[in-house]
Amino acid sequence: MLKKILIANRGEIAVRVIRACREMGIIPVAVYSDADRKALHVRMAEEAYYIGEAAPLESYLHVEKIICAAKSCGAEAIHPGYGFLAENPRLVKRCEEEGIIFIGPPSEPMEIMGEKTSARKKMHEAGVPIIPGTLESIVDEKELKRKAREIGFPLLLKASLGGGGKGLRLVKKAEDLVSCFKLAQSEALSSFADPAVYVEKYIDEPHHIEIQIVADHFGNVVYLGERECSMQRRYQKVLEETPSPFLDDQTRQAMGQVAVKAASSIGYRNAGTVEFIVDKDRKFYFLEMNARLQVEHPITEMVTGVDLVKCQLDIAAGNPLPFRQEDIKPQGNAMECRIMAEDPFNDFMPSPGKIVYLHTPAGLGVRDDSGIYEGYEVPLDYDPLLSKLITWGRTREETIRRMLRALAEYQVYGIKTTIPFFQKILLHPKFLAGQYTTHFISELEKEQDQGSPAEAFAALIAAGIRTYRDARGEAEVSSGRAKESQWKTQGRIQNLSNRL
Ligand code: ADP
Repeated sequence: MLKKILIANRGEIAVRVIRACREMGIIPVAVYSDADRKALHVRMAEEAYYIGEAAPLESYLHVEKIICAAKSCGAEAIHPGYGFLAENPRLVKRCEEEGIIFIGPPSEPMEIMGEKTSARKKMHEAGVPIIPGTLESIVDEKELKRKAREIGFPLLLKASLGGGGKGLRLVKKAEDLVSCFKLAQSEALSSFADPAVYVEKYIDEPHHIEIQIVADHFGNVVYLGERECSMQRRYQKVLEETPSPFLDDQTRQAMGQVAVKAASSIGYRNAGTVEFIVDKDRKFYFLEMNARLQVEHPITEMVTGVDLVKCQLDIAAGNPLPFRQEDIKPQGNAMECRIMAEDPFNDFMPSPGKIVYLHTPAGLGVRDDSGIYEGYEVPLDYDPLLSKLITWGRTREETIRRMLRALAEYQVYGIKTTIPFFQKILLHPKFLAGQYTTHFISELEKEQDQGSPAEAFAALIAAGIRTYRDARGEAEVSSGRAKESQWKTQGRIQNLSNRL
């Protein structure tokens, strides 16, 4: 059992790891930058170490400062959270040199998965289906044109070291190929200090569905179901749910088995996620593997009952997995909304500032993984994720209703948040019907551009309520309960519209 760990991160994920430590009797140690002196994770940790200026390169991305903090406080292990240094093999190697346990995979599988073309090659060799495309980066225009002809349009150009949707370019026709290639290369160079770009076929009507796996040091690898992550804005996830309303049991199981094969083939350890693109015929292809804990891990925890952070700490301490594949039986549905400090009515502009009033939702099946408090000043220097609101329900419908209830309770004054954006998504007939792909949000934004936003929003809510009523059929009426008053419904539309 570990005794003391350093958490090389901030915000909600640092708080999440502190909570697991407290339950396990492990001493959690925080690090903080100038911008985070008053952050929640600093308040909640047992000890906290100052590591530099607000700029990530001077603090949370500075490997030596993190190592130095771990040694100063006598931590046996480092939890990297996600983002920052979580997938940086240099930190893993430095930990190995200093005899500090890195709570994550060894450096070798991390390196393989950190580069998209090497990951694709390795997965192809292991018999994992990959998206059709090149296994190497493209070096010249002649080769680019030849490969593009082979693969066909539309296609995607991707930065080999890509992440966060950067260096990703959709090319719809041959005329745009070379100009898009140049743009992708320059974006790859500025974001990842490497211009390498490769080509992938663009999968039509795509779903992004990922499988959570955990692997111990004794060769046991178990998958913990899937997460539907197709609700994306500019290639970034905004809402996730499990189980996926799109998958059937056969595909679900096949994807789980392939994810285990992918992880085993590279000697993966600890928690990881294998991401897939699933086409309209439910054919699935390896997209990438995230060698760390994912933002959206709580939905898997809610349906499996497995605390993934505790599981990570146990594996790092050298313990075998306490469950086998057949013990994992997900129950019910779970959903997560990423509450960001952004203004959804002004092109998602960052909205930093002081939270002057905060009321957080609670009640059965509601979980708020947050890094904020009333009076806290949200800095502009980092990712705008304030909290993750998660609901669990016995059915998808109950989970959505609970989420709507929780979002209505959530009150954050002083800054703008994405809460109204989720209310809009959750009431959309297509979402309610579980029929959406990665294009949903861009289509919604197009719909909104036509017609006045307030009218469009009211119409959406009305359509959403109608869909609910239809889905419930006559059950409510025949159960003897009075039909809801129109005034109440109108009032609710008004309440939601007021938030616009
Ligand atoms: P990043 O690592 O930058 O996040 P990914 O390769 O994970 O990039 O892709 C991000 C998103 O882009 C996916 O979740 C999916 O929505 C979309 N995408 C990626 N590759 C394809 C593809 N070949 N076909 C269709 N959509 C894709």
